Amino acid sequence: MKKISLRPYNSFGVDAYAKDFVSVESEKEIVEFLEKNKSKSLLILGGGTNILFKKDVDYPVLKIDIKGIEIINEDDNEVLISVGAGENWNELVWWCIENDFGGIENLVSIPGNVGSAPIQNIGAYGKEISEVIENCRGVFRDNCSLKIFKNEECNFSYRSSIFKEDLKNKFIITNVTLRLTKKNHKINSEYYSLKNDLEENGIKNPTIKRIAQSVSNIRKEKLPDYEKIGNAGSFFKNPIIDKFKLKKIKSLYPDIISYNIGKSNYKIPAGWLIEKCGFKDIKQKKVSVYEKQALVIINLGDAKGIDIYAFSQKIKETVREKFDILLEEEVNII
Ligand SMILES: Cc1cc2nc3c(=O)[nH]c(=O)nc-3n(C[C@H](O)[C@H](O)[C@H](O)COP(=O)(O)OP(=O)(O)OC[C@H]3O[C@@H](n4cnc5c(N)ncnc54)[C@H](O)[C@@H]3O)c2cc1C
Repeated sequence: MKKISLRPYNSFGVDAYAKDFVSVESEKEIVEFLEKNKSKSLLILGGGTNILFKKDVDYPVLKIDIKGIEIINEDDNEVLISVGAGENWNELVWWCIENDFGGIENLVSIPGNVGSAPIQNIGAYGKEISEVIENCRGVFRDNCSLKIFKNEECNFSYRSSIFKEDLKNKFIITNVTLRLTKKNHKINSEYYSLKNDLEENGIKNPTIKRIAQSVSNIRKEKLPDYEKIGNAGSFFKNPIIDKFKLKKIKSLYPDIISYNIGKSNYKIPAGWLIEKCGFKDIKQKKVSVYEKQALVIINLGDAKGIDIYAFSQKIKETVREKFDILLEEEVNII
């Protein structure tokens, strides 16, 4: 193990050093590592696309590189596939599409690895991974015991799960099993921009491949490629507010978009709040928000993690002052 630069391992492209860095390719290697490093702090790393390194990591980084995609059961209608945590998520989506397995086509082009996908219950274009997860298998850090969490034990919610809350840093996901359709795919094309794209192209009954192609094209238009412009996607979660607060904001800004999510609660776009605070017009040398989507904070070149963090906190403070809404980070700050 040696001190290593984490720049190639985080999509913000910031420089930070890890004291130790080890890549593991099996559960057995994880257990061996844990037994040797008992009671040490540890950073579990996937693709590094949802992490901001504010400083060096003075404890070991454990990179999960477990590979493998296996069909473990199937009938005429459905298939269960078991996937190693270190597989690339987007490659898995395309593999499923080539095999005509439906259920994750809307989640195409989300960067990162399979093992991290359940952590924040990745979601996009009207779907969340929790809808297709059968179970998540992994290892507890404290006693190296194995456990398989069934879907209902994962406490999935909007951009969260038991692995991001109670078990944060305590449980290492090694394998994810997905239940996908082989026929009668449940096509979800209701999301506004997806629906528009299909309509514009005259497609009435899209296949899962067509959904993935549309989503992939829309994402290319809307989001920066992190290999060229460092970023970690949405920096904050979309806040949920009650009807009284929504009414108050609407009286000042009638153009606000809101989605009723049950009872009298509404989800509103964090990007809209940030834009209304004028952050799209703030030009800085190192950090800014992306011109097409204010929810994405970008590294304009040589920003340090701490510069990005400071900018994110300025956004948070301004939104709180202007709207009395406290944004919550979606990105994991280390
Ligand atoms: C351009 C861009 C667009 C994005 N779009 C979306 C989007 O549409 N929807 C969405 O939901 N997300 C999106 N994201 C965020 C990100 O892609 C997802 O959160 C992804 O699942 C992160 O995967 P990762 O492997 O890079 O995780 P990492 O960044 O490596 O890790 C994320 C967290 O999970 C923990 N972790 C990682 N692997 C494991 C494991 N095996 N066991 C236990 N803990 C682990 C880490 O410690 C960390 O806390 C986007 C990011 C970018 C850069």
